[in-house]
Parts: sequence; structure tokens; C-alpha cells
Amino acid sequence: MVPFGRDSPERVFLVKGTDFVRTLIVLVLTLAGVAHATTFAIVNAKLWTGDPAQPAAEAIVIDGERIAFVGTTQQARDRHPGVETVDAKGQLVVPGFIDSHVHFLDGGSNLSSVQLRDASSRDEFADRIREFAAGVPMGTWIAGGDWDHSLWGGELPTREWIDAVTPDHPVWVNRLDGHMALANGAALVAANVTPGTADVAGGEIVRDAKGAPTGIFKDNSMALVAAALPPPRAELQDRALAAAMRYVNAQGVTSVHHMGMDAAWSELDTFSRARSARALTVRVYAAVPLGEWQRLRDAIDAKTYGGADGRGDAWLTVGLLKGFVDGSLGSHTAAFYEPFDDAPNDRGLFINTPEDLYRWISAADGARLHVTVHAIGDRANGVLLDIYARVAKENGARDRRFRVEHAQHLAPTDIARFAALDVIPSMQPCHAIDDGRWAERVIGKRIATTYAFRSLIDADAKLAFGSDWPVAPATPLEGIYAAVTRRTIDDAHPNGWVPAQKITVEEALRAYTSNAAYDELEEQRKGALKVGYLADLVMIDRDIRAIPPAEIRDAKVSLTVVGGRIVYKR
Ligand SMILES: [Zn+2]
Repeated sequence: MVPFGRDSPERVFLVKGTDFVRTLIVLVLTLAGVAHATTFAIVNAKLWTGDPAQPAAEAIVIDGERIAFVGTTQQARDRHPGVETVDAKGQLVVPGFIDSHVHFLDGGSNLSSVQLRDASSRDEFADRIREFAAGVPMGTWIAGGDWDHSLWGGELPTREWIDAVTPDHPVWVNRLDGHMALANGAALVAANVTPGTADVAGGEIVRDAKGAPTGIFKDNSMALVAAALPPPRAELQDRALAAAMRYVNAQGVTSVHHMGMDAAWSELDTFSRARSARALTVRVYAAVPLGEWQRLRDAIDAKTYGGADGRGDAWLTVGLLKGFVDGSLGSHTAAFYEPFDDAPNDRGLFINTPEDLYRWISAADGARLHVTVHAIGDRANGVLLDIYARVAKENGARDRRFRVEHAQHLAPTDIARFAALDVIPSMQPCHAIDDGRWAERVIGKRIATTYAFRSLIDADAKLAFGSDWPVAPATPLEGIYAAVTRRTIDDAHPNGWVPAQKITVEEALRAYTSNAAYDELEEQRKGALKVGYLADLVMIDRDIRAIPPAEIRDAKVSLTVVGGRIVYKR
């Protein structure tokens, strides 16, 4: 916040067309943790509070890092005379968006690594890697990429596409869903993978006619190459975090649920460093791998991440474990009851056996840790719900809020089980309008209960939304657009892909705010604009509830506030 003197006259600074230099200074000071939160008010706004007791209002007063008042503009002026004021000029103000599924540091480092996301041909794929390699020192690993083979007709890339242009750089570039990746020859050498290397359970090494690896590794087999990657350097991680925070703050995101995987523990160190430096501008609920639940329990007991209960504070919270049942639809590694329509002998795969999952979940839940598990296919979801039900019964009543990440394809009979078991579907609407281009070819009629937002809400599930960034863009407004319109990104379904599963703007807002707060057991202090709650909010340049749904994607974030500090201003 601008550190005006307390006795300065009330100053109205306009949100649009402001003094650019001052905005920059404020941003720099704020990001450096120098500017302290003060008291200020946002007036003449349309507030959607997410608080059923007071759903709408015009003004909000922020005192320090908390919300001090919600009501009319006149009341705000009467009760807080002389307070600094932001005139919203009728713009919409909602609780800060909570993205309940991100890979935060991957996203941040992708902002500065090779970009393959929109490479649409074999030549473009190879050219981008060649150009990137020319700009980094020999021997440097080239990772990330996020390629999408559907853009060039579906043929999987091979090491031969890039070996000639990357003789001196190990390359390890992943498909956009992270469930398969391509290694070049240098990476295979570094990882000591040969034609004799055996397959790994829950994964696949794709081989050519002679049995030699083509360079593509799926799911669990990816660890064979990933193990050869050098550990991430702290200063690179810090830079990735700063880039990630800047990017998501500009999208109105004030909290993320970070799905830590291989690098989860060093990522936790990165978040901790930033918290100590008071440099966090996004609140982080950080997950570590489910199989490492004992290490998390011990770290909580030892209060490694601070907090009276060892679970951190409102900026960095631990306690969440993330596991996997299956892979992804795009890689044909999602576990289904019936075979894929385009691969009649294949029903997908389990990354972990149900027995292992049961053992881990039961023990982690017994240690009072919070569990979430990735499940895509209908069978993966059904098996996971069975495990959750069994563990809840065996371990006894507790506010455990098991989550399912993705809950993408559901057997119709499983939909009601989410509410019945208080299991939270944590879903990503942008995936729906991406997969919608081709999912019917893969699973046929089963698309009726794919990304079943409407059915889940009607069955009283507490649907929470996220992005899966960097798999999809971390832009809640696009997510809301996706959930409300279900128009696929190729615009081939103007009335919505599986339109029966569309939801309303307010339902989508709830999934990105109060329900996502519930999803992280924080609904007592965030996810709504309510007196005493954390002052996390976002201002949007138009009322997305009142415009034609197709125009929601043109809406822009104009202001983001986290803990009473302005962290983004357009
Ligand atoms: Zn993910």
C-alpha cells in the first residue's frame, strides 16, 4: 500500500490510467516486503463476498492484513473517516482466487525455459530445441517444454528428431500433462539407459522395432531419466518462485495449493526462504508425495516449517500429501473400467497399486495428515473412493476432507459418493475445454460424465477449482469462462461441449474461492470477504455475472490485494 501519512487528506487514486511510475515504485516496494499494509478502503464497488450472511456490498475497509468492514460506501466513510480510498468505479470485487492445483515452481521456471507448448510440427519442435540449446552452455540440461503431439497429428516425438541438433545438451522435455517425456541421446547416456534397461511397473519405456528406447518415457519410467537431472539450484528456484508469483498475482490469484512431486522438499525450502524474507505475495499450501508421509509427520512434529501446531502459518502451510492412482487421458494411461474406444485392448494403468495406496492413505490419515490423490479414469476414481470410504470407517470420524485431484471421468454412480463421504473434487475447468477437442474419440459416450461440474454440484459436492499450471494457464477468469461456457479452445462447440455440465458464474466463483478455502481447511480465515478474514481480494474490470458468458474471457484483473498489500495493479 502507498505509505501516505496518517494525517494526509483523503486521496482517491483511480484504478485505471494511474501514474505508471508510482505504481512501479509501489510494486517494487511491496514485492521487496518494504511497504507495510495500512488501512485503506475500496468504495463504489460491486462486491461479491462469498459470505452467505452478506452476499453483496459496495465497500470494504482493510486494516493491516485483515478485513475490518464490509458494507456501503457511505458507512465505510462514516466509520473510517480520512481512510485512504480506492474508487472502484463500479468494478467487481471478489475474494482473492485460490488455485487449488498448481506446480508452482515448474510454472515459474517454465517462464524462462524452452517453449514447445504451441509447436505444431516436427520441424518446429526440433527448431525450438536447437535455438534454445544455442543459448545455454554446453552440458546444460534442457527441460520443461510442455509439448502436445496432438498439434502435429499425434505421432510421438523420438530422440532422432533432436539428436543431431543437441549433441552437447541432455534434453528432457515433457508432454504438457507431465505424464510422458522425451529424452535425447545425451540424456539417455547421462541416465545410463540402454536397450537392456528393463521396464518399470506403472510406466513404460517406448521402444522401436529393434527394442531400443525411442526416447519416450511414460509415467513411472520417467524416474529413470529424471534421476540424472542435477538438483535444482537455490537461486534458480528463488527466481522461478518470484516469476511464478508475479504471473499469478496478475491473474488475481492470492493462494495456491502446490502439488509438490520429485522436488517437493527443496521446493518447500524455497517457499520457506521467501517467507523468511517476507517476499511471499501468494499464500502457499504445499503438498509433498504421499509415500513420504512419515517424513512430513516428523517435520511437523519438529516444527520445521513453524507454527504452533507445526503446520506453518497463513503464508506457508504444510500437512498435505499428494498421491497418484493413474496417469492421463492424453497418454492413454488413465485407468478405466472399459477399454478406450480408440485402443480396444487398453484400459489404462495404475501408477500405484490399490494396496499400496490403501496402506499409505490409512497411515497418513492415522497421523492426522491431509490426503489428496490424482485420479483421472472412472476406475481410478472408483477405486480411490473405495479406499477413502474404507479408511474413514476404519480410522473413525474426523474432519479429514480427503480430496481427489482431477476427478475427471466419473462413473455416474460415483458422483453422489463425493458429498456422502465429504470428499472434495479438485478440478481444472481449462482442461475440459482443451480435452473436449478430442476426448470423445478416446472414451466415446463416457464424455457425458467427464468434468461433471453440474452433476457434482447438484449432488452437493464442494467443487473446488484450480488450473494445474503449467499444464494449463493459471488464469481463473479463463477457468470461469471454461466452466460456464464449456466452449472448447478450437471454438468447435459454441453452445458448450457436453452442455449439460455447464455451471453458473457464481458457482464457478465459489469453486475458486470459498470452496477452495474449504479444500485446504482454511474457510475460517479466507475464501470470503468478511470482517476478520484475511484481506485477500481481486478487482475485475467488469461484472462477469452480468455479461454474455462468451465475453468472460475478455475480462481483466485490475487490482490484486494479498494480506492487505497491493501486489498487482493494472
Ligand atoms: Zn498436476
